[in-house]
Parts: sequence; C-alpha cells; structure tokens
Amino acid sequence: MNPIAHKIPPQFGHFGTTDAAIDLPRARSETLPQQDAFEVVRTLKTAVWVYDIDNSRIVMANGSALRLWQAATEDDLKARDLKKGMSVTVKTRLEQYQRDFHERDCSFNELWTLYPNGVPTTEMVIYRGFRLHDGRMGMLCEVAGTAEYIPESIRSTEALLHTDVMIMLFAEDGKALYMNPAARNANQTSRHGFRRLFVDPEEHDDILLSVTELGQLRKVTQVRTEDGYSWYDLTVKSCSDAVTGDPAILVTAVDVSELKTARDKARYLADCDQLTGAYNRAYFTRMLDRLTVSEAHQDLALVYFDLDRFKQINDQFGHEAGDAVLCVTTERLQGLLGAEDLLARFGGDEFVVLLSGVPDEKILRDRITTIHKAIREPVLHGSSRFLVTCSMGGALIIDTSIDWSEHMKRADIALYDAKQDGRDKFSVFNAEMGRAASERFQIEQELKCALEEEQFTLYYQPRVDTVSGKVASVEALVRWVHPERGLVPPNNFIPICEETGMIEELGYFVMKRGCEQAMAWQKAGLDIGMSINVSPRQFLDKQLMENITKLSQHPDFPPGKIELEITETVLIGDHDLIAERLQQITDLGFKLAIDDFGTGYSNLAYISKFPLDCIKIDKSFVDQLPSSGPIVKLVQTLADQVGASTVAEGVETFEQVEILREIGCGQLQGYHYSRPLPVSDVVDRIHEIAVTAST
Ligand code: C2E
Ligand code: CA
Ligand code: CA
Repeated sequence: MNPIAHKIPPQFGHFGTTDAAIDLPRARSETLPQQDAFEVVRTLKTAVWVYDIDNSRIVMANGSALRLWQAATEDDLKARDLKKGMSVTVKTRLEQYQRDFHERDCSFNELWTLYPNGVPTTEMVIYRGFRLHDGRMGMLCEVAGTAEYIPESIRSTEALLHTDVMIMLFAEDGKALYMNPAARNANQTSRHGFRRLFVDPEEHDDILLSVTELGQLRKVTQVRTEDGYSWYDLTVKSCSDAVTGDPAILVTAVDVSELKTARDKARYLADCDQLTGAYNRAYFTRMLDRLTVSEAHQDLALVYFDLDRFKQINDQFGHEAGDAVLCVTTERLQGLLGAEDLLARFGGDEFVVLLSGVPDEKILRDRITTIHKAIREPVLHGSSRFLVTCSMGGALIIDTSIDWSEHMKRADIALYDAKQDGRDKFSVFNAEMGRAASERFQIEQELKCALEEEQFTLYYQPRVDTVSGKVASVEALVRWVHPERGLVPPNNFIPICEETGMIEELGYFVMKRGCEQAMAWQKAGLDIGMSINVSPRQFLDKQLMENITKLSQHPDFPPGKIELEITETVLIGDHDLIAERLQQITDLGFKLAIDDFGTGYSNLAYISKFPLDCIKIDKSFVDQLPSSGPIVKLVQTLADQVGASTVAEGVETFEQVEILREIGCGQLQGYHYSRPLPVSDVVDRIHEIAVTAST
C-alpha cells in the first residue's frame, strides 16, 4: 500500500503539481453574481467544482465533476465531509493556497489524485481563488485534462509534494520559478527571489559565486522563514530550467534547526559552566593551547580571582545565596571584558580571565583595579545584601620561553601572594614571588619526607596562674628539627601543612605526643595541664574525633587536664553542627580554648552556645597595653559571663603582668616567664617559677 495514500481521505485524494505558475491573472468570477456563474459552469463539458476550503466541502459541481467524483447528485457530493482523514500535508497546503489567493492573483496547475470510492484517478487540475457568497475565499477547480498514466512520474511528483524538504528553482536572475509546498509553507519570502532567502546579502553573493565556479555547494546556514531565521542544510546547484532551457538554480533545503540546537546545547554543556554560563576550565585551557605564546601575543595577561571567604556565605546563608553571588560576579566581569577577553570559572569561587590589550604592568594594574572595584559592589539577593571582596593575581605574558601552564602558575602565585597579604588585594607576579613559591614548593617536598621520618619535636611554654604565681599548664608548640637548617619555627611550615593537608598527619603526631607527655607528667606527680593546638583544617577532618576518642580511652588519660586550642575561624559556619562537635570533644574529657581571640570574626552571640573553658587573649592586645586595657577588660567580662577562664598571650614585661593581674586575667603566658622549651628544660623552668612564686 502506498504509505502516503493511506493517510489521505478516499474521496478527496491528494495533489500532484507539475507546475505552480506564480503570477497568472486571477479568474474574476466575482464579476458575475454567484448563482449565474454556477449556471454557466454547469453547462461546461469539462469537470468544474467549487471547494470551500474552510469547511472542507464542495459547494458546487457540474455534471462532469459529479461523474469524476462518482456522485449520483450534486447534493450527494456536497454532503461529503472531505476533512475526514485528510492528511496534515494536504490540509496545510490547502490553507497555503487560500493565503496565496488572498494575497495575489494566482492559479496553480497541478496533478491531483482523487480517490472517488477508493479508486485513484489522476487529473491535471487548475485552481483559482473564488469568492464564496459570504466573501470567504474558496477555490475554483477545473480539470484541464487527464494526465497520462505514468506511475513513476506520478509517484515522483507525489514525493516532491509531500516531502518536508524544501525544493526551489530560481531563474539565473534570482526570480522564483518553482517552489514545492514545503518551500512555500516555510518560506513565503523566497518567492521574492533567491537573494531574499539569506539573512546576509554577502552570503548570497558568496554562494552564487561558488555555484557559478564549482557547479554546486552545500552549506548549513540560516535561512529566512515565516517564523524568523532557521538553520537549514542547503544544497545549491546550477542547472537548466526544463521548461525554457535557460540557466537556473536548484535549491534543496533540509531544516536542521533542531539538530543544530541540540548540537549547540551539547557544545554549550561541554564548554560552559552550568551555573554562571562562563566558560569552564577545559574550554579555557583548550583555547590557550590553540594560542602559541609568541611575540604576537605579548599584549596578553592572565588574571586569577578568588572570592574571599566565599564558603562563609554558603555556610551561613545557603547555597542559593552563594550561587547568586557567583552569577552576579560573572555578569559584572563579563560586562567589563572586551570581545577579545576570555573568562572562565575554574570551579567553586575561582575565576580566570585572559585579558588582551595589556602590553605593560601599568595597564594590567589599571584593569585589575577596575575589575576589583566592580566585584566589591554589594550583591543584593532577596532581602540580603552581601559585601563580597576578592583576591586577584595577574601575570603578564611576556616571557616567550615558558608555556601556558607556566604562565598560569605565575598568575596563581600572584593570587597566593594577594591572599597572604590579607585578602581583598591584588598582586602582579614578579621574580621575587617566583622565588618564594619555589621555596615553598621545596619546603613542601621536604615536609613530606620530614613526616615520614618524624623530624618533629614538641617545645612547651608555661602558662602561669596569676593568683598562685605557679605554672598551671603548658602549651605544646611544634618544632621541625631540620637535618640541615636546624630548628624551624612553626610559622614557616604550619601554613604549608594546612594548605596541603599534611596538617592532618602532623596534627595527630602533636596530639599523640602531647597527650603522652601529659600522662607521663601526671604519673610522675607533676600536676600541670597541657594545651594542644588544633588547626582549622584538622578540626574539620573526619579523622579527628576518631583520633581523640582513641587517646581518651588510654587508661592513664587525665580528664580535664588536656585542652585543645582552636581558632575563631573554626567557629564560623553551621553553629549547631560546631556546637555539637565541641560538646562531643568536652564529653571525652578534653577542655576547649579559643586561641588568638579578637583577631578573627567570631560572632559574639554564639560564644555562649559553645562549651568553652578558656579564652586566649591575643598577643597583639597585650603588646598594646595599657592603651588596649579597655578591650582586654571587655574580653575578661565576656569570659566571666560565659564561665570561661582567660589566658593572656605574649606577656613580656612586668608592667603587662601588673595590668593583667589587675584586670583579673586567669593565666599569663609569655617570654616574661619562659620561652617555649624542650621537655628536658621545661620541667626545671616550672620548678624555678614555683620557687620564685613562693619567695
Ligand atoms: P600560637 O598558638 O599563638 O602560639 C604562641 C606563639 O607565640 C608561639 O610561637 C610562641 O613561641 C609565641 N610566644 C609566646 N610568648 C611570646 C612572647 O612573649 N613574645 C613573642 N614575641 N612570642 C611569644 P611559635 O611556637 O612560633 O608558634 C607559632 C604558631 O604556630 C602558634 O601560635 C600556633 O598557631 C602555631 N603552632 C605551633 N605549634 C602548633 C601545632 O602543634 N599545631 C598547630 N596547628 N599549630 C601550631
Ligand atoms: Ca596556641
Ligand atoms: Ca595564640
């Protein structure tokens, strides 16, 4: 069975066009009153009928037409609903004809296959517009002769009519000669000529030139359609018009817009960050790889960005707020960048820009300053207003002897420098930074080895009770016993351990060694407390609880004697979760102290929520005594309120001791009493301090 024919109503059949003449004069049947016109028509020998397109019914047919339609009477034919089972293609085409008739005088000569009583009959029919008595546009159909029955040609004509592929024939001067229904449906404008098909006139000229030179051309391009511009796979061939023999252009166009959209979407998904729409790391590095670092590219610069304390926004206000900040930041960046610049989000709150038109450091600094300012503008999200700052590091692409990955490393080093400088800053890479970075890298390598070989030891610094004057406790401070450089102070390696995650291993070593020492002293009858530093990363490590639980289960573990010092940064985030964890730690028998109090950003309202035993007043406040007296007093009051004791750090002078005692500080720690000492020396020092106190 013909796969097309079965969709078509048996009575109405389907069309076959051999020629759709574009500009024939319209049959002026309106000049006669309609009934009179019908009477004239009824006398004709050729089959003629009038079709009401809107209602899918024949409204008049002469005798020949009735025979053709195999209808007994005109009323019988009029009663047939031709809409039933009519294919979408036929319906759309009829509507198209109706529009064509409305717009201009035209007629179409077409091969039309009817199926009266299911028997296909192919006729050459002429269609013209015909005003029905109520003014609507109908169609006058006139059989112009029976087509010669050549199955192949009928089928090929059928296929041409029903296909969704647009097929158009244009004269050499671009005038439309033929358009199949798909072309006419999609593209009314193409009847205005070949040129009107294209969005860009230049593209038309190029295509025409290629076709003239090569004979044919295939291209996926945008074509003007009724619904705007759509993507088509276009084949354009030079040929001859079969009617006149004149040169012509045959155009075949397949709608590929869906395919194109799907492909663009896939590409977008692969190249862009879903949240912000900025390019992703993979795309960015691929683009860099395409550029060679050469003289020609010496006005380029790479800039790395990192939003400061972005995690805090996520933790405190939720991911939606964090997402909003990232999107606004991207928008602002994009607004400041030129067409030649390339922005990518490398993940999290990390962005990278390749700037062009940056020949020297002065211009780079200017551009970074502009971007830095824009990002610092408040971000509004719902009823919240966020002040976000960012750290930025830039590197000029000057050195042609190194590759892109090396340049990216430089921008990253500059970013690191900006962060070290206290954030909300920017730095431009220089040789000094490069040296510092390789030194850091060197230390990192050595630290890995040091951890394996346990090249660490603990020093202990006494904490003196202000009332008794005796040592109440000691703080364990780690030292790196470097095989060549001797004792390395913690500030030179703790931050690197923290950045690289090695702190988790080092922290466990300190914790274990500190606890063992505390137990040994207790056993030996020396009743003093032990303070152990826990870094923020170590505090967040899942392993921590397991480690300290194990230590607390030791038979000699002295509950209430070992204190963990955490910094204020640890207290920022999900307060309920933090409070829960701190409670678990105290439940195991450890005490808790906040280290370096006053230098961080802890929210005072939450201090009372946490089970804190001790607040350590930072050395910077002690240094500024007596002028900082009111602040120290304030901290002391706060500690009293939440039931914690205080320790003043970095006490170096007798004057400081006096003031701190006056304020009511619980313990003092500093060089005034003792520097941190190795285990062998600290016991002697503890006794000396006790002797001094009792005299
Ligand atoms: P911190 O916890 O604030 O430790 C106090 C620091 O101040 C120690 O420096 C100590 O030697 C120093 N100090 C004490 N009294 C005085 C004084 O009167 N004057 C001066 N100028 N300094 C004084 P240290 O041992 O170099 O440690 C530096 C920092 O390294 C520590 O600061 C702590 O944050 C970190 N740290 C040390 N050991 C560890 C550890 O085992 N784990 C972790 N996570 N951090 C550690
Ligand atoms: Ca400490
Ligand atoms: Ca401290």
